[in-house]
Amino acid sequence: MILELDGISHRYGEEVAVRDVSFGVEPGELVAVLGPSGCGKTTIVQSIAGHVHPTSGRVLLRGEDVTGDSPESRQIGLMFQRSTLYPHMTVGENVAYGLVPRNIDGGERRETVATFLDLVDLEDQRESYPHELSGGQRRRAELARALAPQPDVLLLDEPLSGLDRALRERLQQEFVRIQRETGVTTLFVTHDQEEAMTMADRLVVMADGTVSGIGTPRALYDSPPTAFIASFLGRSNSLESTVVGADPLRITLGGRNVTVADYSPGCAKGETVSCHIRPDQVWLNGDRGNGRLSIPGEVVQVTDIGRRFDVTVRLESDEEVLVEHGGDPPSVGEVVDVSVPTNDLTVFGEQVEDQ
Ligand code: ATP
Repeated sequence: MILELDGISHRYGEEVAVRDVSFGVEPGELVAVLGPSGCGKTTIVQSIAGHVHPTSGRVLLRGEDVTGDSPESRQIGLMFQRSTLYPHMTVGENVAYGLVPRNIDGGERRETVATFLDLVDLEDQRESYPHELSGGQRRRAELARALAPQPDVLLLDEPLSGLDRALRERLQQEFVRIQRETGVTTLFVTHDQEEAMTMADRLVVMADGTVSGIGTPRALYDSPPTAFIASFLGRSNSLESTVVGADPLRITLGGRNVTVADYSPGCAKGETVSCHIRPDQVWLNGDRGNGRLSIPGEVVQVTDIGRRFDVTVRLESDEEVLVEHGGDPPSVGEVVDVSVPTNDLTVFGEQVEDQ
């Protein structure tokens, strides 16, 4: 493990920003710390960089406890959302500036700058000043500056925020290519779940200052460990239900009792649980056959999004279900059957949901 966080907690005065956060990053991995605004992502990054001294817990780099060490003594490259390029220096000088603490001679420094400008495709802008660059070029210059000292770990805190969608998507691919080419261990902070899922080998999903789940994007999407992750990663419908039998788990859904497959025991009879199901797994007026449950409801909204229709159906329980519908759309006010695959329901008990 090249980077390890061991039980990091931090308070700003009375405010607890992060609580008992532990995870590790393997050499060469690209890990995204993902979560909504205010969940503690920046506090985590700043604890690793050494700008925040956590109230408790340890930061380990290459197995060594660096919690009390100065930022300068850590081999860490940093890139933030706001530009930190020096406006009075050329792109080449900015990248070279990152190499100053390394005490290397002029020739080697020029060569290193050229290598990293080439890597980010900015060799022709070496003599340009930051204000002469486009937004995307400035981001790439920042990346070259962070990478040139060849840090143990690269920390990127919302590096693509504030860019338009097309540029952002292009730079996501570019950053992944550069990360693969250099093999630099990278921790990437974002609140954008699509960005995190596109780029990262693994995700650390945070909610309210704690880790809600860690895993590959696919594993967390397909088998969310918490109700928060189920609704935060991709779109999800959440339906409330009551446990009527514990083993196997039987719950009420749409006024009927259904048995839920593949559920690890833990819910007690009478307990309220939340059932999550993805909008693309729910059908309208579909198959009523094995493993599917039909629940009647009224269409309250139909949105044409080109490839498909997003249809919102209000059930008798007053809960709304979103259906990704490929065929002809129903009309608002129409009564339809919502077909739910009971085998694909993910059920969370109250304790899990509280996390
Ligand atoms: P964002 O995505 O909005 O940047 P974040 O997930 O990075 O948010 P942090 O910036 O780490 O979250 O903040 C976590 C919590 O700590 C928030 O409630 C925030 O208000 C609080 N906080 C952060 N910095 C300070 C500070 N310097 N003083 C007081 N409270 C702070």
